[in-house]
Amino acid sequence: MFDLIVKGGAVIDGSGTPAQIADVGIRGDAIDAIGSLGTDARRVIDARGRAVAPGFIDPHTHFDVQLLWDGQARPALEHGVTTVVPGNCSLSLAPLKVEHRERLIGMFQNIEELPPAAFTEAFEWTWERFAGYREALERRLSINVAPLVGHSVIRLWVMGDASQQRAATASEIAAMQDLLRECLDAGAVGLSTSFVDVDANMRPVPSRFAYRGELDALAKVLGERGRMLQVVPEFYATDLTIARIDQLAELSLAHGIPTTFSPLFDSRATPDNVPRTMARVEEQFARGARVWPQVQTRPIDISFSSEHPSLFFGRLPSWFRVMRLPRSERLAALEDAATRDKLVAEAGADGGRAALGFLRVRDGERAPAELVGRSLAEIADARGEDVARALINLSLENDLGVPFIAANMGHDAADRVGPLLAHPLVHVGASDGGAHIRSFSTYGDTSHLLGHFVRETHHLGLEQAVKKITADTAEIWGLAKRGRIQKGCAADVVVFDPQTIDRGVERAVFDMPGAGMRYVRDAIGVDTVVVNGAVAYERHDYTAAATGRVVG
Ligand SMILES: [Zn+2]
Repeated sequence: MFDLIVKGGAVIDGSGTPAQIADVGIRGDAIDAIGSLGTDARRVIDARGRAVAPGFIDPHTHFDVQLLWDGQARPALEHGVTTVVPGNCSLSLAPLKVEHRERLIGMFQNIEELPPAAFTEAFEWTWERFAGYREALERRLSINVAPLVGHSVIRLWVMGDASQQRAATASEIAAMQDLLRECLDAGAVGLSTSFVDVDANMRPVPSRFAYRGELDALAKVLGERGRMLQVVPEFYATDLTIARIDQLAELSLAHGIPTTFSPLFDSRATPDNVPRTMARVEEQFARGARVWPQVQTRPIDISFSSEHPSLFFGRLPSWFRVMRLPRSERLAALEDAATRDKLVAEAGADGGRAALGFLRVRDGERAPAELVGRSLAEIADARGEDVARALINLSLENDLGVPFIAANMGHDAADRVGPLLAHPLVHVGASDGGAHIRSFSTYGDTSHLLGHFVRETHHLGLEQAVKKITADTAEIWGLAKRGRIQKGCAADVVVFDPQTIDRGVERAVFDMPGAGMRYVRDAIGVDTVVVNGAVAYERHDYTAAATGRVVG
């Protein structure tokens, strides 16, 4: 007798071969048989007319804190994601000394747009070392977690304040190597580092003070186990990205490790970025190096209001600075004539029409209903103001709470992004799940891949797309027995309807600690998600199953 039979679905096993109608028999936490299995089971799930695939693996997330209060990375799980990789971009919750917590929270706030309440109101911070973090994580997991350890926190632990001041000495590097080894022993699946990010005081994060020898020494430790190095390169500049690809390739070859960099975006502004980057990736793979570019499936949309700082203003430094002021100072600045003139001037000689006119008012708490859906350019014309002034005045008139959306800012041309996602050396990922929660929804990228790029535009076949987010990911990351529907593999299974799978519309919810807001997208067309043999999600409901684990 089986514990569970998923019956009569089109089984897509992750290998890329055509789907076959079959039953999948599960015993305990593993897949035990595939074929015609009858109904002798504690539970039978009818999957006729549905696809049955390995659970999806999301290799680039920042669910570090959320996992500690929901254990589900909600709503990633309902989209069919059964394994997530947190700890990306040089930041992880361990190892970290108590006295450095504030500093790490500031980095997460600034880089990943996670509010401080997410760190202070929803879980008890009981650990310093990686093993302690793992223990806290494992208390209640419904989803599998393959955690990275962050270079910035390793450096901070060993060097303290000096981690953001200078290069490391030989003995400090040796101490970092020991600490990394300890984290890998405790379950970390690799190391993440960043070449671009800044902390809450706009200082480069600790990992950026490392010279090449330090990263080489850490990659050497990764090489002892063949573990992953994840990197955020200078993605806004193609030449710098290519130089990083070369650096990663040398580390990969010298130490026998896989490396991955993210993000890689397509953009109309720099149309040669993807072709040049991919040409270098192909050259390095041909040499035997493994440098996997991570590409996200969704277009870049950024929502914001004047209530919080936003990455939208990254290219407008005065706006960026004003939006980072404490609320009362921000209000005063937006009302101050000289500051307003400066902001308007910075937005362009056209009063901000090109830089800001395409913004639209979106639905939200303090959005004037009659303006929702209208562009800022239209609104400014109706008001007889220039665009930048209209943005400021609308914000002031509505207590800073008018939400705007900058839609399709890049990575939105299907005829360019589709073939890129289908490229055999492109690693589908970079969802940033759980981060940037007030800027865009980081949930549903796999649903978008299967709905849009498979069903609607046909850039990928269904089996090919499933392979990319299951078996390929498991293989790239060395996650044993994950990502396949195969006897002996972990019973992580998703049952979905290829005719309807999709991501829902982006909507605001207030379910963060302290009733904080975030944007989410619901899953459409996903029936059942099984994690290590237990049904974790079924027809729009999460179950009480807590069978997730730390995997590697
Ligand atoms: Zn990230």
